[in-house]
Amino acid sequence: GSVIGILGGGQLGRMLSVAAGRLGYRTHVYDPAPAPPAGDLAHTVTTAGWDDAPALAEFAAGCAVVSYEFENVPEAALDAVEAEAPVHPSRRALAVSQDRLVEKAFLRDLGLATADFAAVDDAPDLAEAIAEVGLPAILKTRRLGYDGKGQARIDRPEDAEAALAAMQGAPAILERRVDFSHEVSVIAARGLTGETVAYDPGENVHRDGILRTTTVPARLSAAQRTDAALLAGRILERLRYVGVLGVELFVTPEGLLVNEFAPRVHNSGHWTQAGCAVDQFEQHIRAIAGWPLGDGSRHSDVVMENLIGDDVDRVPELARQPDAALHLYGKGEARPGRKMGHVNRVTGPARRP
Ligand code: ATP
Ligand code: MG
Ligand code: MG
Repeated sequence: GSVIGILGGGQLGRMLSVAAGRLGYRTHVYDPAPAPPAGDLAHTVTTAGWDDAPALAEFAAGCAVVSYEFENVPEAALDAVEAEAPVHPSRRALAVSQDRLVEKAFLRDLGLATADFAAVDDAPDLAEAIAEVGLPAILKTRRLGYDGKGQARIDRPEDAEAALAAMQGAPAILERRVDFSHEVSVIAARGLTGETVAYDPGENVHRDGILRTTTVPARLSAAQRTDAALLAGRILERLRYVGVLGVELFVTPEGLLVNEFAPRVHNSGHWTQAGCAVDQFEQHIRAIAGWPLGDGSRHSDVVMENLIGDDVDRVPELARQPDAALHLYGKGEARPGRKMGHVNRVTGPARRP
């Protein structure tokens, strides 16, 4: 079969490789680290840096289409790849999601609600931003943050100096702290011909900035469910997006606020492996390979639990629980905060709230 290229070889690349294999494709994974988690399940692995243009070009030349499993692929790396193969989702989607300030401005321009925000490059900016946005707030680096890294809370004006120091000179964004009742996300996809599907929103619980569980159905009104699907569709259309997208939302009495989006399959979409005929990984491969999209409707209620760090010690016990569908990423060392695997549990046939 033809070859699908994936930039990044983490667990998302691993599960994309499995899905691609089921559809008759081979995957070629590119990652700077030797022996990445996706490596065991990909057909070919290239170990080379993001600045290695010849290696990127050679990688892409052997691929029918290239995608990525993390949003921090450098622009220059994308240049080298794009000269040789089509890349989905588009570089616009990547560029927007790489910079929290650009992302928030994009969302606001689309008419979607977000937390109030302001750009912060230095101490005078921060004082101005606090006056504009109000407290409590969160200062975040514009680029390269994940799992809550690169963030500092500002509860009182006295916290400002330490928060700015925590940015280590990197350009930042101040966001008003949203008093949400809970967090949800919507996973959606758009195909090459423009068709879209949205999965049912999942309710997400984070601890220490890292996703712990996703539960479907989420606690949402019918109107909020519609809103979630529509706003995801707006983002997909504006970006002429091809592939799967994950959109994180805050639920507030005033409605849904968009936190951020990821131009890729998303941890909070792992429940689709147990809850839908076509999960997010197959959906992404279908979309980027130009296939019709599959059925993303939810047939079951599911709870997805991440196995983080030492949680992986529970695997023998989980293995004795017949309802625990285990996904392990083949990562060697269980460092604190490291995503080692996840468990999906079907909790019943789909309730239609
Ligand atoms: P991810 O791993 O999802 O990419 P990230 O590092 O990009 O995470 P965010 O999603 O911005 O970080 O924030 C992580 C979590 O922190 C959110 O899911 C939410 O619980 C909390 N949080 C972030 N921004 C705000 C906000 N403006 N108001 C309230 N809580 C927030
Ligand atoms: Mg993020
Ligand atoms: Mg997030």
